[in-house]
Amino acid sequence: MDLLIVGAGFSSLRNNVEVPLLPLFLGELNSVAKSISPDVSVLDLNVELYLARKKGIFNYSALKKSFFKDYLAGGSPNSTPEKLIFTYFDSIKVLFNSYIKQVPNVALFSVPYSCDINSSLLLAKLLKELNPDVKIVFGGTFFNDNIKFSKGVLLEKYSFIDVVATGSMGDVAPLLFALSSGSNLTSVPSIYFRKNNVVTFSDIQSSKKTPLLCPDFSNFNIDSYRSIHPSGEILIPYRFMDGCPHNCSFCRFCLSQDFFAKKPADVKKDLDLLKSQTNSNNFYFLNNTVNVSESFIVPYLDVFSELKIRWSDSARPEKISPSLAEKLKLSGCVSLTFGVESFSQKDLDLMDKGFKISDIVSTLKNVHDAGIITKINLIYGIPFQSAKSLSDSFSNIDIALPFIDLVYAFRFYISGDMNKNPSKYGVKIKDICYFEEVDGRLRDELEACFEEMYLLLKNYFISRKTYCYFSYKDTSIFNDLDLFLPLNPKFASFKEWAFLTLKS
Ligand code: SF4
Repeated sequence: MDLLIVGAGFSSLRNNVEVPLLPLFLGELNSVAKSISPDVSVLDLNVELYLARKKGIFNYSALKKSFFKDYLAGGSPNSTPEKLIFTYFDSIKVLFNSYIKQVPNVALFSVPYSCDINSSLLLAKLLKELNPDVKIVFGGTFFNDNIKFSKGVLLEKYSFIDVVATGSMGDVAPLLFALSSGSNLTSVPSIYFRKNNVVTFSDIQSSKKTPLLCPDFSNFNIDSYRSIHPSGEILIPYRFMDGCPHNCSFCRFCLSQDFFAKKPADVKKDLDLLKSQTNSNNFYFLNNTVNVSESFIVPYLDVFSELKIRWSDSARPEKISPSLAEKLKLSGCVSLTFGVESFSQKDLDLMDKGFKISDIVSTLKNVHDAGIITKINLIYGIPFQSAKSLSDSFSNIDIALPFIDLVYAFRFYISGDMNKNPSKYGVKIKDICYFEEVDGRLRDELEACFEEMYLLLKNYFISRKTYCYFSYKDTSIFNDLDLFLPLNPKFASFKEWAFLTLKS
């Protein structure tokens, strides 16, 4: 079976700053696919169209939304006189022709975000026109998180799609096996498919445990990723933990008690393999929190030291002593992103974060003093938080700020136990997905609160010359690749570079 994996993430095309990195999800999907078939090709459009745009042969932002709709509703690309549309199709066709050895039997479309759905539909339709026999499968985090949306709607609307997969990575192998052997799809977990021309949902339970795979980048176009950064460096994504041992009430991981970590010896094997596949020593780890405990992390640090890699990861702002911070640094740790969330103890307690403001300050200080770049996540719009309580917490941020290099700020989104049992936390919610009502505040009032807090935080960080990226407002995001490069001597510190270089 010839299999094509299409990464249809288009985030890099919508702004000018973010540079596409090797995607972990595609690497893991590729690993599963290769266990079923030796003939797998990968086309990551996020990077290929980024390069096409750089060369001036493709202009995504000029594409009109109406074009997508017309074409998906049955129109032909040739029925429109717009030159750029031909350019778009030509670019895609050239890419397909140059990356696909032969017309695939199955094409897996990985759709990470809602904003990628139109482009993915368009490409899928185009591929089906090129080869009417190809089986088109849609899957990815967009469908996992949007069960309401994905209930067969796509299959009912678009005949060129054959399967919508809503389960976990563990469900991909049985799906590919069924497609390759031509067997009945009824036994594949968590998929929508057509049975006797009727859209049906398979009633088989999704596999409970998602295997922690080593991503496989051996058939990726590594040179594309390398060529987009002036340094020629690339970052390799990898994770060796699944789930989280902590129970923060607002986080979805608090509901699953499954925490799993690969053994250090297995991690060593994976990292060795990835180094040889990519010829890179730079890793961005995507664990939920790397500092589970000192005794837990030290054997991994020994592996990283032995392999002489450089790495970044996420961490909890607690339990990193000066000596552990030193060990982290010596093992090649370049940066850590801390899930601080808030500098108000009341907010932290509501979210069951389990640490104190003093833990945050001492951890950030120890890590920063060891020469590791420190980034923190902040959340605003937490239930019961007001503009006044947020402003009151600024005196705590002031204490930690000398040890913070960069900030990511996110709007509060309820999940986990707080969403399941809101009354336990004294929180009232109604249709949280659409923010109809939280904590007695209706949508308009909530929007006004978010806006007020956004402005407060923005002005606070500008006045303190610290770069803060607002996920809900900013179109560009800081690219981790720059962490791994020598600091431009023009800047006294990474913090100064970030503030002066990135949009605030
Ligand atoms: S917020 Fe972070 S530390 Fe807390 S449960 Fe979620 S992943 Fe774990």
